[in-house]
Amino acid sequence: MSLVTVGSVAFDAIETPFGKTDKIIGGAGTYIAFSSSYFMKNQNIVSVVGEDFPQEMLDKLSNKGVNLEGLQIIEGEKSFFWSGKYHNDMNSRDTLVTELNVLENFDPIIPASYQGCEYLMLGNLSPDVQLKVINRMEKRPKLVAMDTMNFWMDIAMDDLVKAIAAIDMLIINDEEARQLSGEYSLVKAAKKIREMGPKFLVIKKGEHGALLFHGTDVFFAPALPLEDVFDPTGAGDTFAGGFMGYLASTDDISFENMKRGIIAGSAMASFCVEKFGTEKLENLTKTEIEDRIQEFVQLTNFDMVKSI
Ligand code: AMP
Repeated sequence: MSLVTVGSVAFDAIETPFGKTDKIIGGAGTYIAFSSSYFMKNQNIVSVVGEDFPQEMLDKLSNKGVNLEGLQIIEGEKSFFWSGKYHNDMNSRDTLVTELNVLENFDPIIPASYQGCEYLMLGNLSPDVQLKVINRMEKRPKLVAMDTMNFWMDIAMDDLVKAIAAIDMLIINDEEARQLSGEYSLVKAAKKIREMGPKFLVIKKGEHGALLFHGTDVFFAPALPLEDVFDPTGAGDTFAGGFMGYLASTDDISFENMKRGIIAGSAMASFCVEKFGTEKLENLTKTEIEDRIQEFVQLTNFDMVKSI
């Protein structure tokens, strides 16, 4: 099965209570692609960078099997830049700078070799671009999932509502779910959001795990309690990459398999936060990932001998 990922490929500057970085490589598309690359080979990215983006990083993605045919390099322009500062609890952050640069006029191109893909992950980007990508797919993929953030709710709500109506699954964090629905209770928020279109909804709760909603079914997966969290940037995208990579590699979108996908995504996200940027995600081994997934299984596994 094949996966198409759309998302920013960018520069980030991050400040956490543990340190500060100058410009490093980031972007939702970058994290998603690295993460899903461990689950499947047939994956493709749609994005845009400026001429300032290092070829070395594109080579790293390519070496992981990511097809870059749909990645445009715009001469004379700068890549997207985002900067954020985390609060002491590491669960919340302030955006300090968002420079759209090449994203401002991004017109996504879907190469012929990407057509017919079964799984589409619309990473955090302008909802107008996300919609264009859906409309430019000649055949509707089996599963269209999408991420977004408060930035787009603030400046492009009308387009965002249209994009949400056109997808199968929305993957957002708890704060975004509250802002989008106007409901504090996540159960009420989930109901309202699903009335906007998507049959499936994942609400990520940072170090408190993730919830999956479908019909009357709800599944909850914890996050792995980690000793050190250095940088949560990209954890949500890494989660989405692991989740979609798992679903695409197993080609099964039943609720039961989505539960496994949530665990795969959570395991990948737990690696992402251990180092700044994409560093940890670039060189994982199959054994490390398998062991981490088993840790999750152990974390949630118990035997209820007597109920009452
Ligand atoms: P996450 O921590 O999962 O929310 O993702 C952070 C990544 O999203 C960073 O690497 C940023 O480059 C990227 N990002 C932040 N804001 C935007 C935006 N408005 N559009 C696209 N990508 C963004």
